[in-house]
Parts: sequence; structure tokens; C-alpha cells
Amino acid sequence: MQLLDGKSLAKKIEENVTLEAKELKNRTGNVPGLAVILVGHDAASQAYVGMKKKACDRAGFYSVTHEMPEDISQDAIIKTIEMMNQNPNIDGILIQLPLPSHIDTTKILEVVAPNKDVDGFHPYNVGRLATGLDGFVPCTPLGVMHLLNEYNINPKGKDAVIVGASNIVGKPMAALLLNAHATVTITHIHTKDLKAHTLQADILLVGAGVINLIKEDMVKEGCIVIDIGINRASDGRLVGDVDYDAVAPKTSYITPVPGGVGPMTIAMLLSNTLKAAQNHAKEHHS
Ligand code: NAD
Repeated sequence: MQLLDGKSLAKKIEENVTLEAKELKNRTGNVPGLAVILVGHDAASQAYVGMKKKACDRAGFYSVTHEMPEDISQDAIIKTIEMMNQNPNIDGILIQLPLPSHIDTTKILEVVAPNKDVDGFHPYNVGRLATGLDGFVPCTPLGVMHLLNEYNINPKGKDAVIVGASNIVGKPMAALLLNAHATVTITHIHTKDLKAHTLQADILLVGAGVINLIKEDMVKEGCIVIDIGINRASDGRLVGDVDYDAVAPKTSYITPVPGGVGPMTIAMLLSNTLKAAQNHAKEHHS
């Protein structure tokens, strides 16, 4: 069993992004800029936004967080996004999810200018990903693809089974793996017999948000396991969706939680924001 070390790969990617951002600044005077919109007081969301801001600081990016009260109106959020769309110092716009229930998330995500959509959630970028065209790809599944690549794991021809079918994790993960020529199965809460599917997996990717969902008897010997889940255990520890101690010995590769997919997500956000800044610089100088 070998660990897929997302923490050290994320560090390497961050160093690269930092250098490239410096190069962009020297050449054009532009510093990559990220605007984050945070609505309400969800503790996990606040922690994620804090980590993203720190990462921007490390990479020499400009970043700004718009904190809005829980009861803010949809129109007020839309106006702020429209302002960010027009602001030349902002290359990337990120709406921290989940939004409160009175807000139509789909509508909000559609307001973000597709060329500033560094989370890759706008239907324009979703469509480009599904078609295999260049665009912005959601950070978590993109990070998983980088991690696989780093360890020379080629999905081509492999049976990839995804647990979880959200727009943020499962669906874009499936599109990326399909584009990489894997045979892809997507399972979710309504799947009849989860184990029957997971046992087929050469690569099992789990993002359901359920502690210990994947047990030892649900993976085949030599499987590659990517644990995308981040959950807070009753003793306060961060754990994934996989019963790590029991499952890990059966695998050929496995991601730890923390230190696997999580750090890769942040590194991909920096990488996407740099890409947006480079694109914008090209537009302005051509
Ligand atoms: P979500 O709640 O939007 O989606 C969960 C998906 O899992 C749904 O498709 C649901 O049908 C499925 N599911 C739930 N329970 C299931 C079960 N018992 N069996 C089979 N399928 C089941 O969640 P999300 O936003 O996609 O996040 C999923 C997990 O990934 C969470 O733990 C979240 O914290 C984590 N996450 C991690 C990162 C990261 O950077 N590592 C980023 C985003 C989300």
C-alpha cells in the first residue's frame, strides 16, 4: 500500500504557481486577484475561506472576502458578483457553498462571468468539461486527477467507481475520468446495492460525506482508493468517508484524510486563479 501524498504535491504546485504569478507580475504588472463571497456564519465555510485566503497570501495573490449576513437578499449577492465581474483587479470569483436556503444557488452561480469562474461551476464551464474542451474545472476533482497523474496512475481502461453525484465533486469527477478513458460508474444515495458496484472498482473515489461509508469488505484487493470526504468525528478529528485502518491494507494506493485531496483542492484554486489572470492579461495585451 502506498500513500497518495496530496500535501507534498500541493506544496510543489503552490511553489510553481507562486513563481508563475511573479513572472506574470514582472511582465504585465498584473497580480492575480481572487474575490470570495461568504454568506452567513457556517463554521466549516469560514474555515475553508480562511484557508483559501492564506493560500492566496502565500502565492502573492490579491484576495478579498465579501462577508454577507445570513439574511442577505439574492439581489444584493447578485449585485456584488456583477461588481466583481467588472472589477479589473479581480480574475477569479468564488461563491463559498452552501448558500442559505432562501437563495437560489443555481441562479447565483450563473451570474459569475465564465472567464472568472475559477470554481468551474457555471454551466458554460460545466458544458465545456463535458465536451472535453478547455475551461475551468472544479478544484476538488481536478486535484484528484493531478494526484493520480503524479503517481503515474492512468485511468485509461480502468473501472472507476464514484460514490457521490454532486455538482461539486461526483459529476465533474465522472466527466474528467471519462475524458481520461476510464469506464465510469456513478453511485449515490439511491443506488440499490452500493457494495456490488464498489467491489468492481479499480479506482474507487468517494465523496459522500458519510463517516466509514466504505468498509473493508466493499473494496477489492489492490484497489486505488481516493477519499474525498471531509467529516468531523465525534472526538473532533477530521476523517474521510473510508474506514481507513481496515481498508488501507487491501489497497495499492490510498489518500489519507487529512493530507490527501484537501490540500490539492486549495492548490487547484490557486492554479485556476493564475490561469484566469494569465488569460485576462493576454486579452488586455492583444
Ligand atoms: P453533497 O451532500 O452535495 O453530495 C453527497 C453525495 O453523496 C450525493 O450525491 C448523495 O447522493 C451521495 N451519498 C450520500 N450518502 C450516501 C450513501 N450512504 N451512499 C451512497 N451515496 C451517498 O456533498 P458534496 O458537497 O459533494 O461533498 C461530499 C463530501 O466531500 C463531503 O464530506 C465534503 O466535505 C467533501 N468535500 C471535500 C472537498 C475536499 O477538498 N476534499 C471538497 C468538497 C467536498
